[in-house]
Amino acid sequence: MLQTWHIGVDDTDSNFGMCTTFLATILIDFMLALPLELLDFPKLIRLNPNIPYKTRGNGAIAISFMASEDLKDKFWNGAIDRVKQYADVDDPQTDPGLVLLQGEVPSDFIELYKQALYQVIPLESVKNMLKKHPTDTFFIKKGRGLIGATAAIGATLLHDYTYELIIYRDLKEKKPERLIDPISVINADKNTPLSFSNYDYENKQVMITPHGPDPVFCGIRGETSNAVIQMWKMIQIFEPIQTSMLFRTNQHTQVHFPKQFSGDEISPHHSVILRGSVVKNPYNLPGGHVIFTIKSGNISIDCAAYEPTKQFRKIIRELMEGDEVLVFGGVRPASVETPTTVNIEEIQIIKLVTIREKITPKCPNCGASLTSAGKNKGLKCKKCSYKSTKRNFNYKSRSRKIRPGMRYVIPVCAQRHLTKPISRNEPLQFHLTSEIDFQKAFYDFLKRRTELNDHFVKKKEISI
Ligand code: ATP
Repeated sequence: MLQTWHIGVDDTDSNFGMCTTFLATILIDFMLALPLELLDFPKLIRLNPNIPYKTRGNGAIAISFMASEDLKDKFWNGAIDRVKQYADVDDPQTDPGLVLLQGEVPSDFIELYKQALYQVIPLESVKNMLKKHPTDTFFIKKGRGLIGATAAIGATLLHDYTYELIIYRDLKEKKPERLIDPISVINADKNTPLSFSNYDYENKQVMITPHGPDPVFCGIRGETSNAVIQMWKMIQIFEPIQTSMLFRTNQHTQVHFPKQFSGDEISPHHSVILRGSVVKNPYNLPGGHVIFTIKSGNISIDCAAYEPTKQFRKIIRELMEGDEVLVFGGVRPASVETPTTVNIEEIQIIKLVTIREKITPKCPNCGASLTSAGKNKGLKCKKCSYKSTKRNFNYKSRSRKIRPGMRYVIPVCAQRHLTKPISRNEPLQFHLTSEIDFQKAFYDFLKRRTELNDHFVKKKEISI
């Protein structure tokens, strides 16, 4: 009998290579040769970006499909074999986890996903939860990857979502640079409005290529599957490519900030929106970091815009004691040198204090500025010696460079995978209203994948 199945996988990569999305791509290629039907794009699910165990972007993968129960041994053993073969288990930090769920996604999984977006989840609680559902698991070492694998299955992506087309180079290739023409990236970006965060115009940086030893050549992010494919086709590269996969993802949707907290409620490594008022003006630390303190609930807590957040620090320096703010960020636990600090990703102003500044009165005779003539002696003009008995200055409120109601977000070059860039501020109605047939769209991509492979070959020829 035909059944719905979901495979989740996580924690197969290390700082020395591999990428869980690449393993997913190999697994999908294996599955495509079996008599089963994929139901959606593979999902690339980012979880709490502030957990300490992550290698890079805390990403996990879920794949949903229909298959006969008779096929289970084949696809499940195939998935296990690929984890055994490709996971970089020599790295002590790599703890692969693989989960197979049969049937509809239970609410427990959905709840776990929501919590894993901003909290730190204990492995034991996930193992216990899995026992209550029709699941199979495979893990190596402690199997911490089971947390991400289970949470990824729970991410149904019914509301906001985006796409990422990931292009891979050979797994053995480890060099940090990716040979790509930045001008072609800028041109493609300008001609593809539904693709975003490809280039940081403020800091003049190509944003689609990573710099690690992993197999990802580049990743193109966008609102539709067509947009990311179009964008890729316009890019000029100068080295061979191995394969590609198109993921539906929670990236750039800001789901890791589901609610507001007060200072008393926050815990280390959580992603939080903290409401408070500024009690210590921003100041600079060596290295270009900017710190200020807010009072939230009953505690005062430092908030930091670190050097990599570049021009965002100018916004932070505009804050003043008394301003009421919402700080979006990750809670960095206290160390010997530093107190608990919120690492800021975004700030919104609720209320600004009014700053009064003196209006310098003008001399009625010559128009020069009047100055104080001494204590209790009124004002005088140094230019024409005019004297006034008036002692009180008038005041005006100083205009502030920051405004309530705006989202101030760290620049594209510093953004995390879940950060919602300013370019995604407007809600995109087609994400919310239209019934998109993801299965059809995914199989359409698979048909075009051959065309994309031809495109790679053309690029290789150009580069020779
Ligand atoms: P990449 O993005 O390159 O695939 P990564 O940054 O995802 O790598 P992993 O190697 O997958 O890093 O490590 C993340 C680990 O943290 C996984 O074992 C995952 O199960 C676990 N994890 C993810 N989210 C949470 C969470 N909220 N609480 C506890 N553990 C988590």
